[in-house]
Amino acid sequence: MPSAAGGTFVEAAVLTHPGRQRTTNQDAVDQRINGNYAVFVVADGMGGHRTGELASKMAVKNIVEVVREEEPSPTLLLDAFEEANDAIYMAGQRPESRGMGTTATALALNLPYAIIAHVGDSRAYLLRDGQLNQLTQDHSWVAERMRQGLLTPSEARNHRWRNVITNALGSFPEARVDLIGLKVQPGDRFLLCSDGLSGVLEDSVLQEILESLPPTEAVEHLVRLANEWGGPDNITAVVVSVLDVPKEKSPPAWALPLESGEPVVLALGQEGSTVETQVLEPPGKRGFWHRWRDIIFLVVYVSLLLYVLLFNKR
Ligand code: CA
Repeated sequence: MPSAAGGTFVEAAVLTHPGRQRTTNQDAVDQRINGNYAVFVVADGMGGHRTGELASKMAVKNIVEVVREEEPSPTLLLDAFEEANDAIYMAGQRPESRGMGTTATALALNLPYAIIAHVGDSRAYLLRDGQLNQLTQDHSWVAERMRQGLLTPSEARNHRWRNVITNALGSFPEARVDLIGLKVQPGDRFLLCSDGLSGVLEDSVLQEILESLPPTEAVEHLVRLANEWGGPDNITAVVVSVLDVPKEKSPPAWALPLESGEPVVLALGQEGSTVETQVLEPPGKRGFWHRWRDIIFLVVYVSLLLYVLLFNKR
C-alpha cells in the first residue's frame, strides 16, 4: 500500500516493492510534510543481504530525522547526508558488513524552493509544463561513459555493468554530494525513484503516468508497470505534486561549505534559470591535489617564460 501524505501546498505518496525476482527489498523510502516544509528520501542499498537493507534504512532515517528538525536548507541537507554517511560507514566496519553502502536522493521543500541532494544512481525528475526533466545525474559507470559519448543510452540501459555505481553513501569516509536548487511552481510534479523503476520504464511512460494520475495512484501504477515488465530489481517511487506555493519571501542566501572551507552562496531560483546546480567535490585529498596541481603548472609556466625571455636576450 502506498503511504500518502498531504497538506495545503503539496500532496505526496511513496511506495516500495521488492519486485518479482528478489526476495528482499534493499530499497528504503520515507517522507515528512509539515506546512511549507517537506522532505522525501529514496535510498537503494548495496552489500550483502542484511547490510544493503540496513544501509538504505539508515540513510533514509538519518536524513529525514535531521531535515525535519529545522528549516530545510542546502547546508542542513548536506549535514544530514554527512551524518548518514558517517553512521553507515561506521556500521560497515564490522567484518560481516563489508561492502555496505547506499544511494540516496533527497528532495527537501522549503516552499517556494526545492533542494535536492543526491548520491548514486537513484533519480529525481521534475515534470513541468508538459516536460519531464531528470534533475540528477547518475553516479554510475555507464552514465559516466554516456556523458563522455562512449555509450549510447540504449547501450547503457542494457550494459552488463549498468548497476555499477561510482559514488555511494557510507562506502567511504567521504562521498560526493550533488546539490540542486530550484524555485517551485504550482503544478510541478517531482518523481524520486530507484533504478528498479527508471531502469525498466522509459521516461515517456514515467511522464504519462505523472501527468495523468494523482500521487497515490501514480506510485501504485508505476510499481505495477515495473513488475509487469519483469520486476528485476527492487522498485521505489515517490510522487510529489505541488498544489500551491506560499508567497515569496526574500531570496534566501544559503551558504554551502566547499572543499576550500570557503562558504559559497547558492542562489536558488534566480531569474532566467530554472535550475541552479552546485556540485561539491569530495573534501580532502582531491581538493588538495587540485590546488597543488595549479601551483605546479604555474611554476612550470613562469619558469618557461623566464627561460624564453632570458634566452632571447643573449
Ligand atoms: Ca536497485
